[in-house]
Formats: sequence, C-alpha cells, structure tokens
Amino acid sequence: MPVPDNLPPLREVIAAFGLAPKKSLGQNFLFDLNLTARIARAAGAEAGGTFYEVGPGPGGLTRALLAEGADKVIAVERDVRCLAALEQVAAAYPGRLEVICADALALDEAAILPQGARIAANLPYNVGTALLIKWLTVPAWPPVWASLTLMFQKEVAQRITAQPDTEHYGRLSVLAQWRCTAKILFDVHRGAFVPPPNVTSAIVRLEPRAEPLAPCALADLETITAAAFGQRRKMLRQSLKPLGGEALLEKAGIAPTRRPEELSIPEFAALARSLARPT
Ligand code: SAM
Repeated sequence: MPVPDNLPPLREVIAAFGLAPKKSLGQNFLFDLNLTARIARAAGAEAGGTFYEVGPGPGGLTRALLAEGADKVIAVERDVRCLAALEQVAAAYPGRLEVICADALALDEAAILPQGARIAANLPYNVGTALLIKWLTVPAWPPVWASLTLMFQKEVAQRITAQPDTEHYGRLSVLAQWRCTAKILFDVHRGAFVPPPNVTSAIVRLEPRAEPLAPCALADLETITAAAFGQRRKMLRQSLKPLGGEALLEKAGIAPTRRPEELSIPEFAALARSLARPT
C-alpha cells in the first residue's frame, strides 16, 4: 500500500515555489496523483530498488515512485527553481531521494547508477528522443539500467514500438527493438498536463534484451538505417548505392527492389554485417 507522505498538493507546491512552467524546458507538469501512481507502478516501484528520474520538476512522479515503494530515487533536474520543492520531498522520505542539478544529456548514467536501476520519467519533449537514443547506444550491453518507463508524445511512442510495414516504422523502431523489447502501456490525454501539450502522450516500457535481436555492430546498423530510411520511398538498391548497392544487398540475401519499411530487424542486421569491413 502507498505510504501517505503528508506533502501539499502539487498545485500548491507550484504556487508556493513560483514554478510557472517554462516551455523552453519542456515543462508540462502532472498533478493527478492517480496518474503518477499508475506510472510509478508501471515502472515497477512496488518491487523496490533504485529508480532514476529525469526531470522531477515539482516532484509529482518522484513522490509517486517513493510512495509506491522505491527504496531510492536519483533524480536529475536542470531547473534550479525546482530544487527547494524537491528538498521538501526529500525531507518527507529521509535518505531516499538524491537530487542532481544537471543536464541529463550530459550525465554518464553508468557512473551514477547502481546496476539494475530502473529509469522512470515524464520526459521533457524537446530532449526525450535524444535521451532515449543516448540510453540505447551505450557501448556496453546489457546496460546499467534494467528498464525504461517513459512518457513520450504518442507519435514518438508509436515510432519506438512500430512493426515493419507500418507507417511509423523507421530508424528509431529498429534501434530500440534491436536492443530492447518495447511496448506502449497506455495513453495519457493532453488534459492531464499543466499546461496541456498539443498532442496525446503515451507511456512506453522498454526492457533490454540480454543480447541484441541479431548480431551486428551498432555503428554499422546506424549507417544502414540512416541511408535506407533517409530515402524512405526508394528501393534499397537506390538508397544503399553509396554503401555498396546491389552487391551489398546480394551479400545480405535481400532483394534489391525491397523498400526499407518492409525489412525486419534481423534483415537490417544482415545488411549491417555485410557492410562491416574486415578488421
Ligand atoms: N516529472 C514532472 C512531472 O511529471 O510533472 C515534470 C515533467 S516535465 C515534462 C520535464 C522536466 O524535465 C521539467 O521539470 C524540466 O525542467 C526538466 N528538464 C528539461 N530538460 C532537462 C534536461 N536536459 N536535464 C534534466 N532535466 C530537464
């Protein structure tokens, strides 16, 4: 059962600490405690352990993670205005909240998180995709984190989880699902945020695979998908011409007339292996 923390309602926190949301920092706050509790449970807070939260803001999701059972939350927030509000949360949960005031894009999670930490965040939309790519492209795999439970604009969530032959399938789908399992857990209506963003959001859950879906080097996979999806409507013999064209496709056993959205992730990996030059 969640622990009552006797902290003031989030609307009061915003007013008391002067936290008028800033668009430049992607600040769309969640005030609905039922929703933050649902996200915290989706992230696995009831099982305890350490959580890493990017962008705690006034602390809505932070409080939910702690109340639902997280042993510890390490939160990184760029906006210094939020620190006093987060100190109040830390005081309500002694020894369980550590706040780092920094740009999450510049942090090395492997240096600050214990192995098996779970990442949970209502991400700032302007840096959400960049953060996900950063977490997916670490050199060592499996990574330090055990799962990602993240809020994205729904269109980004669809790109992360898309299957071949669908509208949203692209570079992000291949990268994410090559190294992780990925699924959309539930949608979040724009009216749940203050201020409301323009579009619906969704919570996505990613779990690292022990091994990538098919063997290949990350850099080669990125080279292939950038070239292939860079000319999405073209046949692969055309878009992959600078990388070897028909000879490359033949080596990978892929028909030159196919288009990028038709290829499975193992097929992209086969192309990446064909590209790899002998060392
Ligand atoms: N977690 C809060 C909630 O759910 O109400 C706030 C979420 S708000 C969408 C995103 C938060 O990320 C803001 O508090 C913003 O200041 C913070 N933020 C934006 N860019 C950041 C960055 N590069 N590193 C760390 N935090 C950042």
